[in-house]
Amino acid sequence: MYNENTIKANLKATVLFVDMNSFFASCEQQTNYWLRGRPVAVCVYTGKNGAIIAPSIEAKKMGVKMGLRLEEAMQICPELVPLETHPARYRDFHVKLINVLKKYSQDVIPRSIDEAVVDLTNYQLIYKDMTQVAMDIKRDIKNEVGDWLKCSIGIAPNAFLAKLASDMQKPDGLTIITPENIDEKLKNMPITDLPGIASGMAERLRVAGITTPLQLRYATPEYLKSACKSIIGLHWHYRLNFGEMDMQAQGYKSMQAMRQVSRDQRKKVSVLEDIFLSLCMTLEKRMVKNNVFAKKLGVTIRYEDGFTYEDNIRTAMPQQDGIKMIQIFRNRMQHYVDKNRCEAVINKRVTSMGVLVTDFLPTELVQYDLFENNVRIDTMRKALYEVKDKHGKDKIMRASELHDEPVLKDVIGFGSVKDIYEGDDDTKSPFSIQF
Ligand SMILES: [Mg+2]
Repeated sequence: MYNENTIKANLKATVLFVDMNSFFASCEQQTNYWLRGRPVAVCVYTGKNGAIIAPSIEAKKMGVKMGLRLEEAMQICPELVPLETHPARYRDFHVKLINVLKKYSQDVIPRSIDEAVVDLTNYQLIYKDMTQVAMDIKRDIKNEVGDWLKCSIGIAPNAFLAKLASDMQKPDGLTIITPENIDEKLKNMPITDLPGIASGMAERLRVAGITTPLQLRYATPEYLKSACKSIIGLHWHYRLNFGEMDMQAQGYKSMQAMRQVSRDQRKKVSVLEDIFLSLCMTLEKRMVKNNVFAKKLGVTIRYEDGFTYEDNIRTAMPQQDGIKMIQIFRNRMQHYVDKNRCEAVINKRVTSMGVLVTDFLPTELVQYDLFENNVRIDTMRKALYEVKDKHGKDKIMRASELHDEPVLKDVIGFGSVKDIYEGDDDTKSPFSIQF
């Protein structure tokens, strides 16, 4: 973890955030000339229920949004060209992009398949004019990656503000945030436009009287800490005052989710299984948000009589998917039951359950070659959480999150669009996920 005293403000705009515009769709247009200038939508699959994960710039202009089903999208935009994903293609463009960025700085951190931070803080003697560097990068991307590809670049004193700047102008943007202009830039912005502030955090801040980014910037660290009821408040203070909080986003050593089980809850094994599922989904969500996969999984289950079931697993492949983690845990539990000829591990005597993930790998380093078929699944999962953040987490759910579904008995993976539903209000469920 960071030490508060080491957070120093960088008052010069030396961090670039490069965000490729409509990346997947643009890669398709780059590869197939006929698609250029047309509204294109990359979908999980191209049947009428296929969900759109990446509309092209042209499609966005016509109102086609990520998360829409093809059936709805075709009504909005009848000329829309639906395409299936080509993960290997996007990966190749990603590698070319990163190679271009690395010509400018060794401090390049890929943030996702279509985003990267280029830190020029240590290169200030070489580059006098960061706007010129950004323009040179745009030119090199056109020349060396693909002439149809556009990106928005944000320049700012830290990675967070640089990302924010890159969001301000799309497509083909170039925006710089400096200590001199930041107040002007933040002035009319809704607080939920700040990356990382979803509806829950916005509500907590609203209760504390903070409704605008500028109020957030000028609130004292102490006030924010108590308003957010956590250290996160302090992070926001530093981010908006030019401290660097996001260059070691992979700083987690482990993540844990734990729940006590009430007497009532343990009367039904299906409720216990739901809770176990919610723990795994909580960790999945955190890993997705932090762009990491885990190589080690752990589970701890305690019982009324003081007995503890504990299992630590080093997985052959790094994991991020909650449903897959459940399958791994359940296989091992079955093994344990067979070997010891005992009752099921999740039974009516359980008093608490905890799941742990550790030994993280950044998503970008997870070898996509091993995952050829999973890339679209991983991308989909990420897109899903982005949609959830934007529209509220209850709007879209995986089938496994709907509690009237036969959860766990009918495990569905992520490749199918059946997994996405307009969800009911999640507060109706018998328990809430603990963070
Ligand atoms: Mg992008």
